[in-house]
Amino acid sequence: MEKKVRVRFAPSPTGGLHLGGVRTVLYNYLFAKQLGGEFILRIEDTDQTRFVPGAEEYIQECLAWCGLTPDESPLHGGPYAPYRQSERKEMYRQYAEQLVAQGNAYYAFDTPEELDEMRVKFKTEENTSPQYNLQVRNKMRNSLTLSQGEVKQLLAEGVPYVVRIKMPENETISFTDMIRGDVEFNSSLVDDKVLLKGDGMPTYHLAVVVDDYSMKITHAFRGEEWLPSAPVHILLWKYLGWYKEMPQWAHLPLIMKPDGHGKLSKRDGDRLGFPVFAMNWTDPKTNELTTGFRELGFLPEAFINMLAVLGWNDGTEQELFTIDELIERFSMEKVHKGGAKFDFEKAKWFNHEWIKRTPATAFKPQVKKLFEENNIQVEDEAKFEQVLETVKERCTLLPDFVQQASFFFKAPQTLDVASVKPKWNEDKARFFDIVCEKFTVLEDWTASGIETLFKETATEKAIKVGELQLPFRIMLVGGKFGPTVFDIAALIGKVETIDRIKYALTQF
Ligand code: GLU
Repeated sequence: MEKKVRVRFAPSPTGGLHLGGVRTVLYNYLFAKQLGGEFILRIEDTDQTRFVPGAEEYIQECLAWCGLTPDESPLHGGPYAPYRQSERKEMYRQYAEQLVAQGNAYYAFDTPEELDEMRVKFKTEENTSPQYNLQVRNKMRNSLTLSQGEVKQLLAEGVPYVVRIKMPENETISFTDMIRGDVEFNSSLVDDKVLLKGDGMPTYHLAVVVDDYSMKITHAFRGEEWLPSAPVHILLWKYLGWYKEMPQWAHLPLIMKPDGHGKLSKRDGDRLGFPVFAMNWTDPKTNELTTGFRELGFLPEAFINMLAVLGWNDGTEQELFTIDELIERFSMEKVHKGGAKFDFEKAKWFNHEWIKRTPATAFKPQVKKLFEENNIQVEDEAKFEQVLETVKERCTLLPDFVQQASFFFKAPQTLDVASVKPKWNEDKARFFDIVCEKFTVLEDWTASGIETLFKETATEKAIKVGELQLPFRIMLVGGKFGPTVFDIAALIGKVETIDRIKYALTQF
C-alpha cells in the first residue's frame, strides 16, 4: 500500500513571515491536498537564543489568513504531538548518544575561546573562515583526541560539551531532488555540524531528521538555502538506520530582488517601498513595524495566486488560478530551478484581478473598517455592497475603496472647481437649476431614468451632454474619478444629488 503523503512546514519563529516562507507553505499544502495527504506545521524553536515572543502566533495567523490551514500543528494538535520542538527536547538526546556510540558523532569540549583561537590559528589566504571539520577536529579537545578516561572524567565533572557529527572523508553523498534532479556533495567539504548543544537542546540538523522520521514525513520541501545542509541530514538518516524512510526532497528556488540580483530581503522591501512579509510584523525588541501584504490591502486569494506562479506554471498561459485549480494543477516537477524575480506591479495586478472577480460580500468587512478609520459612516449595508460592486473594478488595493467609494456616503469635502471654471457659463448654471427642478419630480430614480432626463434637458437647452457630464461628476464626487455619473446619482439618492448640485452651484 502506498504511504499516506505527509508534508510539513517547519519554521523557526524568529520574526515576520517572508513571502518565500508562505510560498513554501503553499507548495507543501497544494502537494498534500492534491494527493489526499496531510499538511503539518511544526515549530522549530530549539534555538532559545533566537526566541521571539509572538512569532509563533503570528505564523499561525498568517496561515489562517491565507486559508492554508494545517491538519496538525501546535494549535490543532494531532497524533504526533507535541509539534513544538522545544517540547520534544527529551526525545533527541538518545539519538545523539546513539550516534556517538556508533562512532558517527563525538563529544566536543572546546570552549568558545578555544573555538575563536582555532578560527585565527587555521586562517589562511585560501581559507579565511576555518570550520570545525575533518582537518581541524584532530587538533581540538574532543572525544576523538582525548583518552576514554579523560572524556569520562570531563563528562562526570559536568564540563559543558556539544555533540558533533563526524563527517566521513571523501565520500559522495547524493540524493534526487524533485526539482533539481540528482544532487551530489563531497563529504570532505562539509563541516562537523553541532547536533546537540551545551544546553541539551538539539540543533536544527538533528531535530529536523528525528522529527521528520517520527512524524512519518514523506516529502520535505524547503527553501534552497537549506541545500548545503542536505548532506548532513542524509547522513543522519543513514546513521540512524532510517534511510529507507527518508522523505523525498525538493529545494525550492529563491525569490529574488526585482533586479534579479540576490535573494529578496525585508530591507529590499523597505528600500523599494513594497511589503515582503505576509502580515504586519512589529519587532518586539525595537517596536519597528513592517507592513505586510494583508494590511496593505491584498486579498488572500490574490496573494496566494501571485506566490503560486512565482516559480511555477502549469505549462499554459493561464495566470489566474483559484486554490482548487492550483490543487488540481500543481506539480513539484514543474517548479522552476532558477530563482523567480519578485515584481510588485505584477503582484498588484493579481490583486486587481482578484478584487474584480470576488463578490463584494467577501471583502466588505475589511473595507468597512477602512471606512470607519476614515470617519465615513455606513448605515445601509445593502447600498454599501452595491457601491463596492460598482467601483471594485477601479480598485487595486483595498484602501483604494476609500477614495473610490466614500463620496457615496459623504459629500465631497473639496470640489475640483479649477477643472470646471474655464468652461463654465450662465447657460450651464441655468441647466443645472432646471435639472434640479425636474429631478424633484422624477419618479424613475434609476441610472437610466436620470440619464434620459439629463440628456433630454441638455437637448432642450442646446448644450452638448459631454460638456455637462464633467461638471455633474465634480458636483457629486469632487473630482474626475468614479464610475458612470448616472450610476452615482442613482446610488446616492435624489435628495443628496440635488443638495450636492445646489451646493456646487455656489462654488463654480
Ligand atoms: N527550521 C527551518 C527553517 O527555519 C526548516 C528548514 C526545513 O524545512 O528543513 O526554515
